[in-house]
Amino acid sequence: MTDCLFCKIVAKEIPGTVVAENEHAVAFRDIHPGAPTHVLVVPRKHVVNLNDAADDHELVGRVLQLARDVAKSEGLADKGYRVVMNNGAGVGQSVFHLHVHVLGGRAMSWPPG
Ligand code: AMP
Repeated sequence: MTDCLFCKIVAKEIPGTVVAENEHAVAFRDIHPGAPTHVLVVPRKHVVNLNDAADDHELVGRVLQLARDVAKSEGLADKGYRVVMNNGAGVGQSVFHLHVHVLGGRAMSWPPG
């Protein structure tokens, strides 16, 4: 996708604070962190959200696998962390390239707002 912010970060056309990457996915720090640790994990392939990717088990699995690895490298594996995916503008998706938020390092309430 030529006009996708996260495709541009994946392609290193615009800067991102990358904390981990592999052939399937890239993890970088959220520019407006909502927690002491706030990392976004995106597939290299452009898909809009889960509606667009649900049958691609490998893509979804690889994103979650890297989210798990990032949580561990950020020291959150034992403390706990939250993995969030907003699907659709109505629930807060603002960048239409599938991503999970990995959030941790503070207390969190449930349900989210
Ligand atoms: P969502 O609202 O679930 O689509 O999440 C999009 C996230 O991308 C938000 O938390 C933004 O703060 C974050 N974001 C927007 N632009 C950038 C950027 N250039 N680098 C890193 N994170 C960004």
